Amino acid sequence: MWNGIIAAYKDFFGVKEGENIVTLNEGNTPLIPAENIGKMLGGLKLYLKYEGLNTTGSFKDRGMTMAVTKAVQEGSKAIICASTGNTSASAAAYAAKAGLKCFVLIPNNKIAMGKLAQAIIYGAEIIPVEGNFDDALRIVKEIAEEGRVTLVNSLNPNRLLGQRSGAYEVCDQLEGDIGYLAIPVGNAGNISAYWAGFNDYYKAGKIKALPTMLGFQAEGAAPIVEDRVFQEPETIATAIRIGNPASWEKATAARDESKGLIDKVTDEEILETQKLLASKEGIFVEPASAASVAGVIKLSRKGYFQKDKTIVCVVTGNGLKDPSVVEVEKESKVYGVKTEGIKELIYKSLGSEEND
Ligand SMILES: *Cc1c(COP(=O)(O)O)cnc(C)c1O
Repeated sequence: MWNGIIAAYKDFFGVKEGENIVTLNEGNTPLIPAENIGKMLGGLKLYLKYEGLNTTGSFKDRGMTMAVTKAVQEGSKAIICASTGNTSASAAAYAAKAGLKCFVLIPNNKIAMGKLAQAIIYGAEIIPVEGNFDDALRIVKEIAEEGRVTLVNSLNPNRLLGQRSGAYEVCDQLEGDIGYLAIPVGNAGNISAYWAGFNDYYKAGKIKALPTMLGFQAEGAAPIVEDRVFQEPETIATAIRIGNPASWEKATAARDESKGLIDKVTDEEILETQKLLASKEGIFVEPASAASVAGVIKLSRKGYFQKDKTIVCVVTGNGLKDPSVVEVEKESKVYGVKTEGIKELIYKSLGSEEND
C-alpha cells in the first residue's frame, strides 16, 4: 500500500521508524504521456505529472505532510498561512487530520471558489485580508514570528523538503533521464524544490544527468522574468498571481545552474492550453497549471527543444477547483432544451465531422 511521500522516501527525509507522521497518503500521482499534444508539436516526448490527483487536488500536499508532521513533533497546536487557495486547502486538511487549529489569510475576493470551499469544509478559520497575496504573507510572517502558531507557507523549509518528492517520483516513473522539466512559477517554491530533488537523486546516483529547468510565470505576474517586483500582479491564473516571490533567489539559481530559463505566458495562452489539455489529452487542470504546457508550446514554436529528450510538464492542480473559467452556461445552451430531434442533431454533428 502507498502510505504517502514521507514513508516512500524516508531515507531522503531523515525520518525514523516509529515517528508519528501526519499524512493523507499524498503523492504517487500519475505521469501521463501527452501523445496528442506531443505529435501536434512536431513529435516531442511530452509527459504530464498530474498533481491534481493529490489528496486535496494540488502538489501542495507534498510539502504540507512534512510541515504538519514537524509542527506536531515540535508541539505546535496551530498552523497559519497566507494563500492564493491551494496552500489553504492543503493546510486545512492536514490540520484536520492532526487535530490542529488552522488559520488562513486570503487576499480579498482573489481566490477560486473550489479552494475556498475546501478550506471551509476542512474546518479552517478564514480571515480575508484587504490587499493581495504578498500583503497577506507579510502579516502571517509577523504573527508566526511570535511563536504561538507555525507558519506553513513555503518559507517553512519543511514544505520545500516535502515537495522534493515530486522530482523523486518523476525520476522513478521514467526510469531514465529527464531532458527538460517545465513548471509554473508563483512564489517559486516548487521549481526550487524540484531542482533540489533532482540534485538529491543525482548525488545518490539514481539519475545520470540533471534536467534543464523551465519555469513559466503569467505575463501580468512576471517578477522573475522582468527582474522587478510587481506591485499589482494580475492574471486569471490565481495560483501564480504573485508579485514578489519568496523563493526568488532559489528559483534563479535553479534556472542558471541547469542552464534553463524562466519565461512568461499570456492569460490567453494559458486558457487556450487549458482547453487543449482537456480536449486533446483528457486532463483538466486549473489555469496556473496550464502555464507549464503553454510555455513548452511557446518554446517549441521557436525550435527550442532537442527532440530526443524527454519533456516533463508539472501540471500542478485540479481543474475542478476553479470551474468558473469554463463557459458552462453558454456551452450548455448551444442546443437549447430539446424534446425531439435529438438523434438528428447527433447525426448531423457526426456527419459534419466526417466531412472535415
Ligand atoms: C502554488 C501553486 C503554484 C505555484 O507554485 P509556487 O511554488 O508558488 O511557485 C502553481 N500552480 C498551482 C496549482 C499552485 O497551487
